[in-house]
Formats: sequence, structure tokens, C-alpha cells
Amino acid sequence: MIALDGPSGAGKSSVARRVGGLLGFLHVDSGALYRIMTWQCLLHGVDPADPEAVAAFAPTVQVECAVRQGAVAFFVEGREPGDALRTPEINRYASPVAAVKAVRDRVTAWLRGLTRFGDLIVEGRDITTAVFPGSPARFYLVASAEARAERRRLEEVAKGIADQTAEEVRRSLLARDAIDSTRQHAPLRKADGAVEIDSTHLTLDEVVRAVVDALPEGWRGRVV
Ligand code: C5P
Repeated sequence: MIALDGPSGAGKSSVARRVGGLLGFLHVDSGALYRIMTWQCLLHGVDPADPEAVAAFAPTVQVECAVRQGAVAFFVEGREPGDALRTPEINRYASPVAAVKAVRDRVTAWLRGLTRFGDLIVEGRDITTAVFPGSPARFYLVASAEARAERRRLEEVAKGIADQTAEEVRRSLLARDAIDSTRQHAPLRKADGAVEIDSTHLTLDEVVRAVVDALPEGWRGRVV
């Protein structure tokens, strides 16, 4: 189990996919589960800004998992949400929904259950501190707000869903950071003993190398 935390746009997904591919560890995007909770609230008419309504609804959400192309994919009622999870509305409400304890408890239980699939590289906000704090390889990936916003914007352009200006992307990202790092339950923070990597001026290859170099000896030997 490799655990990787950090704020939005620090490069966690790209790094986790690459490192997972090199080691044969399955990539798990824990943020997708918080986005699914938010998506389900919106679909079922539950106000995502109402913590009590969200807490009452959270235990009813069912998620199925399957291994696909080196990652764990998530489904709801047989349907894979895909880009439905990446809308500005879900960007906006995912952090308030993720601050609700009943939501965190449910997602944490799902994530812990995924170890049945084998070795994992799990990315998120509380993987190193709360979900898998005993992981032998824990990383905290950061980058400047400007670099993070620009990466997110370019991702959205590449996906053809860029309906926000650079400034709007930056504001939305900083708003999420603020909620994620000040919430009461499992806030985003660097875990004691986690390896911090600042990716602001590094290429993806350089970040991947830094992660691999910091892995326990036995795992480094598995790199293909
Ligand atoms: O990583 P991503 O931006 O997709 O995550 C969406 C939201 O889910 C984050 O803004 C955060 O509020 C929440 N999250 C969390 N804990 C995690 C992963 C994501 O609270 N482990």
C-alpha cells in the first residue's frame, strides 16, 4: 500500500497512475468516491450544502468496484459516472459533502475494503493520516496555487469541458483547499513521517522518480 495525499491539482492522479503502473499496484482515486457521494446527492434532490440531509442520505449510497486497466473503477447502479463527476457543480459541493462525518465513515470503509484486490496506490486528502496511516510508503505532494490551477485548467481544456476561466478555476481550487484543511474530521495535512514533494518546478518524470526513490527497498526492486 502506497498512500499519497495533497491538495487539488498537485499532480497526485498522474503520479499515482505512473507509479502504480511501474510497480503493478492498482491506482485508487479516493476523491472519486467523495464526488460520487456529491453526484448522488444532486441526483436524488438532497441539498449538498445541508450537512444533516447529507448525513442521513450517505448510508443509502451503494458503490460497486471492479479492477480495470491498472485501477479500481467505481460504479453506481451498474453505471460508471465518468465525466459526470467533473462538473463545476460537483467541484463546488464535493468539499462540503466530504466534511460530513457520515460520508467520511462510509468512504473510509469502502477504501479499506479495497485491499482485497491486492497492492494499491491510493491518493486523496486523508489517506496518510486517517485511512491507511500505517502504510510503509506515505507521500505528501504539494505545488504552488498558480501551478495547480493551471494544471487543472489544462486538464479541463484537454477533456473539452473548459467552461471556466483560469481565475475561476483558481478560486474554486482554493475554496476547496480551505474547506479540506480546516474541517473537523480528517482535515488535509502532512502526516508525521510522510515524504513531502513539491512538484511546482518538477516534471511528472521527476516527481515519479522522487517517489520511487523513497519507496521501501523491496518495492523499488519491483519497478519495471
Ligand atoms: O481529489 P478530488 O479533487 O477529486 O477530490 C474531491 C474532493 O473530495 C476534495 O476536494 C475533498 O474535499 C474530498 N476528498 C477528501 N478526502 C480524500 C479525497 C478527496 O476529503 N481522501
